[in-house]
Amino acid sequence: MTSIITLSIELEFGWGMHDQAEYGHLSSDRSAETETLHRLLDLADRLNLRITFNIVGHLFHDSCSGSHPGPHPESWWTEDPGTHIDTDPLFYAPDLIREILSREADHEIATHTYSHLLVDEATSEELDDELATVNNLHADAGLPAPTSIVMPRHQQPNYSILADRGIETIRRPMEGYGSSNSDWASTFWWLLIRDHPASTLKRQDGILETTATPHPSLTAASLPTGQSRPHPLFSIIPRQIRQALHRQYLIDTVDKAAMKNRHVHLWTHVYNMANDGQWEPISDGLEYLAKRRDEGEILIKRMDELSVPESRGDCLDTHQ
Ligand SMILES: [Zn+2]
Ligand SMILES: [Zn+2]
Repeated sequence: MTSIITLSIELEFGWGMHDQAEYGHLSSDRSAETETLHRLLDLADRLNLRITFNIVGHLFHDSCSGSHPGPHPESWWTEDPGTHIDTDPLFYAPDLIREILSREADHEIATHTYSHLLVDEATSEELDDELATVNNLHADAGLPAPTSIVMPRHQQPNYSILADRGIETIRRPMEGYGSSNSDWASTFWWLLIRDHPASTLKRQDGILETTATPHPSLTAASLPTGQSRPHPLFSIIPRQIRQALHRQYLIDTVDKAAMKNRHVHLWTHVYNMANDGQWEPISDGLEYLAKRRDEGEILIKRMDELSVPESRGDCLDTHQ
């Protein structure tokens, strides 16, 4: 049996959009996101779901001075509050990392760089410095250095820098995936009825690439994104219908993975699911995934457990 589902979820909070000083998608005291993570971890323990959490390294700190030595331009730290978790919990979250580690389900602590680095604009020295800092933070927390990474905004890094710092696996966006229609009405309809294609596993320059949809797949664009409302057009469809469509999308994704020996990589951010609109279909979808796993139809693998299928018999269907 080679049907595999991977679940990966980013923890970034204030760092996710600090380059644009945008925080409206988050609860100001991080309470909605904290509650949602606890809810997810409870469900993961109950269902024995092993999740890869891609964590911005700065969240390991409980305080900082607001500036960090290294090759970054000083302007990069403009939004770093230089305070403490009690004042700015969107920028410091060691409590949540401890919470993940304390749970029964064996989750993976992977990285999302140190400061949500945008490699398209950054130098090689900045990327290398961030990975070195993350490795030190993991060591200080008694953790092994991360071997999996998701780059902020799925930008393309230099793989030799990743490999030199111990990274073995990266999540990349699928090429050519999305609505083929340019007009909004068609895209709107596509977002409601989209179908999840197979993910692929491929070794590239010494790094294992696992592909996922460019936009979050565990959460739905038709429902609120964290504290932000969806596009107003979606409100013409009752919320229960949008939730039912997303629930069915997740169930169909699991069924197709099981039936066609597929690998599927589902992902989102913690903040995305921090509202009841998203949570209800996601929790139902994860219950269904655990049921199919318990029936022996599917394996759940973390990013660090993935490998390129070796024998023909193990070959995963990569047709989209
Ligand atoms: Zn700082
Ligand atoms: Zn991010």
